[in-house]
Amino acid sequence: MAGKQEPSLIVGGGLGGATAALALGRKGWPVRVLEQAPEFGVIGYGIQLGPNVFSMFDRLGVGDAVLAQSIRPKAILMIDWADAGEIVRIPTGDSFMRRFGRPYVVIHRTDLHQILLDACKALPNVELLPMTGAASFQDRGDRVVVRTEDGKTIEGAALIGADGLRSTVRNQMLDEGEPRMIGYVAHRTIVPMADVTFDVDRDDVVLWSGPGFHIVHYPLRKGTLFNIVTVFKTSNDAPPSDTASPHPDLDRVYRDSHPTMRSLWAMMDLSRRGWASSDRDPIRHWSKGRVTLLGDAAHPTLQTLAQGACMAIEDAVCVAELIDQADGDFAGAFRRYENARYLRTARVQYESRYLWDNFYHLGGLEREVARHAWAGRTEQDVFDCLAWLYDGFALPEPRGKAA
Ligand SMILES: Cc1cc2nc3c(=O)[nH]c(=O)nc-3n(C[C@H](O)[C@H](O)[C@H](O)COP(=O)(O)OP(=O)(O)OC[C@H]3O[C@@H](n4cnc5c(N)ncnc54)[C@H](O)[C@@H]3O)c2cc1C
Repeated sequence: MAGKQEPSLIVGGGLGGATAALALGRKGWPVRVLEQAPEFGVIGYGIQLGPNVFSMFDRLGVGDAVLAQSIRPKAILMIDWADAGEIVRIPTGDSFMRRFGRPYVVIHRTDLHQILLDACKALPNVELLPMTGAASFQDRGDRVVVRTEDGKTIEGAALIGADGLRSTVRNQMLDEGEPRMIGYVAHRTIVPMADVTFDVDRDDVVLWSGPGFHIVHYPLRKGTLFNIVTVFKTSNDAPPSDTASPHPDLDRVYRDSHPTMRSLWAMMDLSRRGWASSDRDPIRHWSKGRVTLLGDAAHPTLQTLAQGACMAIEDAVCVAELIDQADGDFAGAFRRYENARYLRTARVQYESRYLWDNFYHLGGLEREVARHAWAGRTEQDVFDCLAWLYDGFALPEPRGKAA
């Protein structure tokens, strides 16, 4: 088939890049993944995966492997920071499975990444190149040439930029400057479950929501580990630093929070590296000629809906399917891909922003009103709210099955 002689290049071997490599590789396309880090590996914390991502994993033949390493919580809960009252409950047990047909899970990112990388390594046509940072690219019309940070050039039939929030490929393609900082910082930690001695829900995904801050926790690796993420508003929009007191108001948060939340705060080492919460405005077009983007490079989102990686995985399977159908017309495949994806990913970006400001972090009377408004919602109401997301993305039919 046209285009199959030369490898496609993927810049970035995170969850999105690894999934794209696997999806293309399984269809017999030669792929080279350029990763700037000395080794392929993602940040070693937990990740939540919605049911929408499991039909992608099934197409890639890794669904069972992912499930085997995952935990299925019984519920996702939003709890009030001061009195521990339940604000929202999303049951993720039997009724969720009946409604969405797929589970909601939590998994260690390293385990998920390893499953994808092992599947890539089993394919002779996928080449993983660590220590290969991309500095720039050139679209020559009939092929793409990437210049690496150490001055080498690598040629390919097409280029997929899966290089994250601060994507080099996007910067060159769109030249829009830095992502939008929103003045919040996230800190993550994992502790042995045996060290969690206070009274806390160890089995579910729990989000403690407070004015200008939240904490999420859930179990990992058969309940032997406890993953905690704290997010809070900083005094300015500066990127996180390792200053001793990143949040001048933290004393009040400690003092006034529910005792369980205080115990959770106490487990965090806030002097360690944090992530400045950021996103970008949604866009319709993130492809040009033989070059496209996926995942955070294309549509970075706040983590409110816990869907950034899920969107990257959906993107990856979609773009691979369309490349496979395009008979070497990469530019056409990339146009169809962004057209198929931009509304869904933009909705994730917009809703994540909306919920971040207008639900997760409300204070005072606004918080009371939101809580009251949610109090009467039934399980069915909650499922209906999530259906657009969790019912999933209609992938193009595989080649041969397409009409
Ligand atoms: C606190 C927090 C919690 C989150 N929780 C969830 C969750 O529960 N569920 C969920 O679905 N999402 C979650 N997300 C979002 C998720 O982490 C991202 O959306 C996801 O990692 C994006 O994957 P990606 O492959 O597009 O980019 P990345 O994971 O950023 O991977 C990019 C890769 O490209 C490499 N790279 C960068 N530049 C270059 C270059 N020039 N040359 C070569 N390689 C390069 C990087 O080293 C990296 O390996 C969360 C995010 C945060 C901050």
